[in-house]
Amino acid sequence: MLPQAVLTSLASESRLQTKTELRMAIDHVYSHHEHLPKTFDLRQPPPSLESDYYIIEIGNIEKEELSPFEQKLSPDDRLDAPLFDEGYRHPFAGRDEAPMENAGIGRPEFPGGPVSQWPANYRPPADAYAFYMPYHLYYPHWWGIYLIAERVIELAQELRDATRPKITWDEAFRATRLYLFKHEYFHQKAETFSAKLEVTHRERMYLEGQLPFYVRTFGTDNCIEEALAEAYAIREVERILRNWKWRAPARNAYMKALKHFVSQSGPGYQLGVEYADQDLFGLKQATFAEEIRHEALGMQKMPPGIWDMFNNAFRGVGTIKSRVNYIVHANSWLSERLGLQVQRIDYQGLKRKLKKVCRCEIDRNGKGSHEIWRTPRGQTFPVPRHPGDLKPGTLSSIVKQACDGMSVYDFLHS
Ligand SMILES: [Zn+2]
Repeated sequence: MLPQAVLTSLASESRLQTKTELRMAIDHVYSHHEHLPKTFDLRQPPPSLESDYYIIEIGNIEKEELSPFEQKLSPDDRLDAPLFDEGYRHPFAGRDEAPMENAGIGRPEFPGGPVSQWPANYRPPADAYAFYMPYHLYYPHWWGIYLIAERVIELAQELRDATRPKITWDEAFRATRLYLFKHEYFHQKAETFSAKLEVTHRERMYLEGQLPFYVRTFGTDNCIEEALAEAYAIREVERILRNWKWRAPARNAYMKALKHFVSQSGPGYQLGVEYADQDLFGLKQATFAEEIRHEALGMQKMPPGIWDMFNNAFRGVGTIKSRVNYIVHANSWLSERLGLQVQRIDYQGLKRKLKKVCRCEIDRNGKGSHEIWRTPRGQTFPVPRHPGDLKPGTLSSIVKQACDGMSVYDFLHS
C-alpha cells in the first residue's frame, strides 16, 4: 500500500497529464514543490507587503489595450512626494539593503529582488521600478512579478520626454510597462532554467547556483543575469512594438531612449544594450547557464557551445498572467485618487464571497485563529479569522489562491 502522500501525488500527476497542452504555470510549480521540496527555501514576505500595499492584477501585458486600472493612471498627476523618498521605498527596503562595498548599490536578497540604492552617477535600474519574487522562496502565493505603479508612471514620463520625435503618453506607458514586465520575466525564465536542472540533478540549482552567483556578482559587470534581463527586454519590446504596428520613427525613437536609459543603469545592467545583439545574446545566455551549473555543482566549466543542444532551456513558465501585479502603497496619492480604499472586506463578508463566488469550502481549523479552506480543485489555503477588515495583501493572496487568478476588484464586485 502506497503512503497517502504518494497517492495524492500520483493523483495530481494524472490530473496534470490530462492538461499537458495547457502548460499551467501554477500546476508545474506545484508539482515541482511536491516532488523536490528540498530545492525550496520558503520565506515570509516583508509584513508591509501584506499590510501596506494594494495589489492589482494586470492580466495579459502583451496586449496593446490597457486594463481599466491602467486607463486611470495619468502623467498629469502631480506627485506629492519624490518617488524615491523614504515613504515610497519598496516593501523589502530596510532589510536587504546593506550597500555593497565601494559600489554604492543595494544588494538584493535574490535575483530580480527590488533595489533602492544605486551608485550616484547612475540611474536607478529596472529593479527599482519593478521586482520579481521567485517561487523557490515565495511559493505558494507571493511569487510573481510586481510593478510599482507610481514608478512605472515616473519612468514612462521620463522616457516619453526623452523620445524624439515625441510619442503620446499612452504609447510611452504601454511600452514602458512592457519593458519592466519583460525585464522581470527574464528573472522568471532564469529561475525556470534552474528548475529544469533540478529535475535532472535533484540538487539545489537555484539556491546553491543561480542565487549565490547573482548576489555575489550584483553591482558588477559580472552580473550576467541583469545584463541578459535588459537584453531580453530590449529585444522583446522591439518585437512587440512591431506587432503593435508602431510607425518606424516612433518605434526607433522610443528604442533609442530606452537603450540610453539601460546604458545609464549601472554595472551589469548597462551591458544589456550590447547583449541585445542577436549572436551575443545566445552566447551570453549559454555562458550564464554554464556559470549556474559551475556554481551549484562545482564542476569544471566547459565551452558554452554545449548549451546549443538544450533547446528551450530558458523557455520560462508560459501562463504567468495571474502572477503579474501592480502594487500601490495604501498611503500614497495614487491610492487616494483612485479610491483603492474601497477594496475592504471583513471575515464574515469574505466567508460569504468565498462560498458564493469561488465555490470554496472550509476544510478544517488551522493553527491559532486560522481556518484552512479548500478550492473546488482540492487545493488548500489559510484564512485568518480576525475582527475588522482584512489587510489588503492578505485579501489579495486569498483571492488569488481561492479563485484561480480572479482580481480582488472582480471578487468584491461579483
Ligand atoms: Zn533585474
